[in-house]
Amino acid sequence: MQRYSVFALAREAFRDHRGWERAWTSPEPRAAYDVVIVGAGGHGLATAYYLGKNFGITNVAVIEKGWLGGGNTGRNTTIIRSNYLQDPSAAIYEKARSLYETLSQELNYNVMFSPRGLLMLAQTHHEVRGYLRTVHANLLQGVATEWIEPAKVKELVPILNIDGPRYPVLGALYQARGGTARHDAVAWGYARACSAMGMHIVQQCEVKGVRSEGGRVTGVETTKGFIGCGKLGIVVAGHSGQVAEMAGFRLPIEAVALQALVSEPIKPCLDVVVMANTVHGYISQSDKGEMVIGGGTDGFNNFTQRGSFHHIEETLRALVETFPMLSRLKMLRQWGGIVDMTGDRSPILSKTPLGNCFINCGWGTGGFKAIPGSGWAMAELMAKGEPGPLAAEFGLDRFREGRFIDESVAAGVAH
Ligand SMILES: Cc1cc2nc3c(=O)[nH]c(=O)nc-3n(C[C@H](O)[C@H](O)[C@H](O)COP(=O)(O)OP(=O)(O)OC[C@H]3O[C@@H](n4cnc5c(N)ncnc54)[C@H](O)[C@@H]3O)c2cc1C
Repeated sequence: MQRYSVFALAREAFRDHRGWERAWTSPEPRAAYDVVIVGAGGHGLATAYYLGKNFGITNVAVIEKGWLGGGNTGRNTTIIRSNYLQDPSAAIYEKARSLYETLSQELNYNVMFSPRGLLMLAQTHHEVRGYLRTVHANLLQGVATEWIEPAKVKELVPILNIDGPRYPVLGALYQARGGTARHDAVAWGYARACSAMGMHIVQQCEVKGVRSEGGRVTGVETTKGFIGCGKLGIVVAGHSGQVAEMAGFRLPIEAVALQALVSEPIKPCLDVVVMANTVHGYISQSDKGEMVIGGGTDGFNNFTQRGSFHHIEETLRALVETFPMLSRLKMLRQWGGIVDMTGDRSPILSKTPLGNCFINCGWGTGGFKAIPGSGWAMAELMAKGEPGPLAAEFGLDRFREGRFIDESVAAGVAH
């Protein structure tokens, strides 16, 4: 793999940038691989990467029906945090957040991780109690968060109206090392590293069926023909239910569209990430100057990867009392992604009824932040056939046994 560095940049500047290699190859699929992963989003690619890096398994194909990173990974609002309530969640999200700290160096690809600080506003007394509880839980879990009072909130976010008539700001849950990263770059960085290990990323190749024999998967039927595999990983977010059905089992999951939008670019005015969960909206400013604004999920199941007008109106109407300056901005574009929601709002990293088939899904509205930790844990699950400590609590059996990991406050509406 060609190393990116300031020297490489200088060298290419002198030869009109004609010496750059392609970041990853686009091979035709082989007849079979040791491991096939369906879905080249962040989670699928990170799984492949850690299979190679941590377990030396490189005869791997990642099969993608569209283009890599073109699903939710390239459509999200890039919030990274680990201030969850339950211990298993805090462990996997904090593992992910800590991997993000050095991901650019590890992948030799600038993922633009920006730990600029993240605030979750408390705008009702109920939220104050909830976030204080989270701060205490985080303290026990070793996750650095703190409760801050309204004056400190105002100092960190001068554009905020903390004295709103309906929803005044009563304080905030603050994670100083939370922030954002560049979503495409996370997918591209992992893809480049996988390709450098000799793995195949096969784009424009849809999995249409899963072939099995004697309780084990033998391969997948795709639009580029049959591809055999020793192990199968299903990592397809909003399409998990459909691919699981192809494999012959059902998932406790539903798919809904989640939408977001950005404003016209303006001068820097917000250098932290702010989530206002009561009114439901969250906001950060991109390097280009656009205000990146996330809204809610559609209230009905659907598979539409697009925005709708009423969502722009609802989201901005909700936010404008707390962020009055938004009323003066033109909105530039909006979009949607298909998110996969479980009942307890926690992910599934699990074995399945088929012995050599594993599933990673259910990250819902908040899985971008989890990509490195999820890939790490899924690779361990697939390599060893059993979950390691990070994935142990996230198996499918928890729904049968009633061992829910209830993150409906931390993840039900938040991202
Ligand atoms: C608007 C929006 C805002 C969000 N904001 C945040 C946020 O701020 N912070 C955060 O942490 N998370 C956020 N999320 C959630 C986050 O984007 C997802 O949890 C995460 O990206 C899921 O990654 P993935 O790799 O599992 O899925 P995806 O990136 O969706 O990848 C799955 C891939 O599988 C492919 N696929 C599906 N079916 C098949 C098939 N049959 N054959 C082959 N390939 C197939 C798809 O084309 C897709 O590329 C947001 C999501 C949306 C939509």
